Formats: sequence, structure tokens, C-alpha cells
Amino acid sequence: LMGYVGFANLPNQVHRKSVRKGFQFTAMVVGESGLGKSTLVNTLFNTSLYPPKEPLPPAAERPKTVAIESIGADIEENGVRLHLTVVDTPGFGDFVNNDDSWKPIVENIESRFDSYLEQENRVNRSKIVDNRVHACLYFIQPTGHSLKQLDIEFMRRLHTKVNLIPIIAKADTMTDEEVAEFKQRILVDIAHHNIHIFQAPTYDNEDEETIAEAEEIASKIPFAVVGSDQLVAAPDGRLVRGRAYPWGSVEVDNEDHCDFVKLRQMLVRTYMEELREYTNDVLYENWRTEKLLSMGV
Ligand code: GDP
Ligand code: MG
Repeated sequence: LMGYVGFANLPNQVHRKSVRKGFQFTAMVVGESGLGKSTLVNTLFNTSLYPPKEPLPPAAERPKTVAIESIGADIEENGVRLHLTVVDTPGFGDFVNNDDSWKPIVENIESRFDSYLEQENRVNRSKIVDNRVHACLYFIQPTGHSLKQLDIEFMRRLHTKVNLIPIIAKADTMTDEEVAEFKQRILVDIAHHNIHIFQAPTYDNEDEETIAEAEEIASKIPFAVVGSDQLVAAPDGRLVRGRAYPWGSVEVDNEDHCDFVKLRQMLVRTYMEELREYTNDVLYENWRTEKLLSMGV
């Protein structure tokens, strides 16, 4: 169904929390400019969170460091309210020297942990706002080679602080074979560098269908995605989200064309609560323990 984001399934993902309060979810997008980050966010949440882009100012007037910009939106679906925050990181990878591009991003993630810890330590903890980053979509340029030093460095620095979800940007610019080979090389690099990427957890007591679904999603990582806010005509005449080419069109929501549907399933429909839980129970908890130890508490 077009125009249906799918987080209304959240109450089924959550067993103990009140639904009326609504849910807070923060997603970060990282990757070089022009890889389609803003377009994909709009496509994922079916909003115009990012309006069409102004032309870039001349290089000399552009900032020389990575900026952190966050925007929020309240979306409601089937009576379920989601407060979504998207953290964008313009400038990442865009400079002559990108050695420290990961730094402001780590600092931002840690300052969100800090703010959570500070709230937990208050006398009144009933109104804790969770601004922690629950997932980080890392956009890989569709080069067809392997990961760049910048990609590896970023993921190595971030994988213990945030749920990393690597994606191949603009997958419509590669053939299916190129995508398949590129995915293999990326996975080899990730394993070689001991980078931990988010995996949908499976539990012993789960039914076969749930396990099969998790395996199906896992088999697509890194998700090769296509984003678009344009409608194109499918072969059967329906108007669908996609990108038109002289030889035909690439449909965003068609699983034969790209992994967008699986990415949305991972991020929104099935594992949003798992992403929040892993952030709280593992990533935040590890950070907190280290912080308290370093303070000699
Ligand atoms: P950002 O700088 O990473 O936020 O990239 P934008 O979302 O602003 O997109 C940059 C350009 O790439 C725009 O012209 C988009 O229309 C185009 N674009 C976005 N997603 C895709 C995609 O999946 N495939 C292709 N071929 N182009 C895309
Ligand atoms: Mg953008």
C-alpha cells in the first residue's frame, strides 16, 4: 500500500509500554552529499521532511566542518503517534581531508547519551525524553568497488555507539549483478574489520514465519535502495513511486527492483522497537558503564 508507513504495528512490537504516550524514534543519516539521503528519508516516512534542495552556495562559502542538523515530525497512523527525529550530517565526506568526519558525529551521539543519563539521575524521572539515536543509516556510494577508507573508519568508530544499518545508495545506477558483487565485497570488508552491524534478533521461542522473515531481511544487508518522491507508470499502468529511465522505470516499492521494502521493514515495520531496545540495553548501557568507571564511580 502506498502512503502507508507501517509503524502502526509498533504496539505489537511493544508489550509493556503505553501506546497513548506515543513513541519517540530518532534516525540518523550519514553519507556524502548527493547520495540521496534526504530523498530516502522522505520516501521512508512518506513525508516531505526535506523540501527540494536549494543550490549549494559556492565552495568558498560552505562550512568546513560536518554539521549536525535535526528535524522532527509527528506522524500518526491508525491512532498510533510517532515522534520522529531525523538527524542529518551535511558535510560528511565532502572535504579534501575527511579524516575527522566521524568525530562530530560520535560527539553528537554521546551528548545524547549524556542528556539521557542526566535525566535518569533526576529525582523526577517520569518525563524522560529519549533523544538517543536509535539507528544510523550509512549511505555507501554505488561505486561497485569496495568500501572506502572513510566508510571503514566511520563504521569502526560508530559501531559500538549506534545501530549501524549500511545501505548502498542509488542502487538503480548499478546492474543486479554489480549490486550482488558489491554487497559481497562490502560484507567481506565489514567482517574483516570486525564491524558490528545491526542484526534483527531472533529468539528460540519464535515461530518459523518470524524466523524466516528475519532471515529474509538479513539476507539483503547491505540494503540496495532507490529513493524517489516522483510517481511513474508501472507496466500495468498503475502510478507508483519510482524513477523513470528511457529503458523503463525502477519502482521503489517493488522487491524485484530494490531492497527499499526490506529496509523499511527493518527500520519501521518490524524492528523499530528492537532498535530502541538494543540502543537502551546494550549501546547506552555499555557507554554508561564506561563513563561511570572512568569517573571512578
Ligand atoms: P543528499 O545530499 O544525500 O541528501 O541527496 P538528495 O536526497 O538531496 O539527492 C541528491 C540527488 O540525487 C537528487 O537529484 C535526487 O533526485 C537524486 N536521487 C536521490 N535518490 C536517488 C536514487 O535512489 N537514485 C538516483 N538515480 N538518484 C537519486
Ligand atoms: Mg540532504
